[in-house]
Amino acid sequence: MHPNGSIIAVGIGPGAPEHITPAARQALESADVIIGYHTYLRLIAEIAPHVRRIGSGMRQEVERVRHAIQLAQQGNRVALVSGGDAGIYGMAGLLLEMLRAQHLSGMCVHIIPGISALNAAAALLGAPLMTDFAAISLSDYLVSRETILRRVEAAAQADFVLCLYNPKSSQRREMFDQVCALLRRYRAPDTPVGVVRAAYRPDQQVTLTTLERLPEVAVDMHTLVIVGNSSTYVHDNRMVTPRGYAEHRDLNE
Ligand code: SAH
Repeated sequence: MHPNGSIIAVGIGPGAPEHITPAARQALESADVIIGYHTYLRLIAEIAPHVRRIGSGMRQEVERVRHAIQLAQQGNRVALVSGGDAGIYGMAGLLLEMLRAQHLSGMCVHIIPGISALNAAAALLGAPLMTDFAAISLSDYLVSRETILRRVEAAAQADFVLCLYNPKSSQRREMFDQVCALLRRYRAPDTPVGVVRAAYRPDQQVTLTTLERLPEVAVDMHTLVIVGNSSTYVHDNRMVTPRGYAEHRDLNE
């Protein structure tokens, strides 16, 4: 193995260049090669244009990491790109898993944090994540439907605010409807729900709705859904989950 090879798992944020951290930008600029899903490489087209890029399609994650490891072993500084944060449904975990499976230790690996979709969506909606919340991916590609539904139910029962990643794809539509029905068993029909599509990208859409009306809202794989808890409200078009200050202090003066 070449001593100077390295892999940096880089989270590039939700989409806009100003939401890429300086550390992530620097990692991209100093890389010999940038590897990632085509869509994410497109989002960072303007950054480090001189650096070689290797793009691949969806569900090519294992191949991408394998390639990254090979290139690092040849002495390259590899930037392995994830949307949002590399450690939240991103490439960081698979990278560490594959290094372990291949009995590779001592490789120079860094993980650069990024702004995840939940941070981006929360900021666009108001302040829905001020108290305890749970993130759940509705993708049944790697996790069984039963497990996903069990987790949604447990989080709903425990009154967590919910951030639903990968809510719906063209091949997977029923799961979302099932989740909506399950949530309605534990939360009031007028519970506020924020639906954010393509946060901080040119085609961004922000919708405030209610649990009752959620099935009518267009939701796809570029969307994050935030379901409020029993105390979440909407004021002046902003979704807020109070943290509890009002119970201890006068907030009206
Ligand atoms: N690592 C990423 C998540 C990858 S899973 C992160 O930390 O954000 C992909 C899912 O993330 C999408 O299906 C969608 O639910 C959500 N997502 C990613 N970017 C988004 C964006 N700009 N706007 C809304 N949702 C987004």
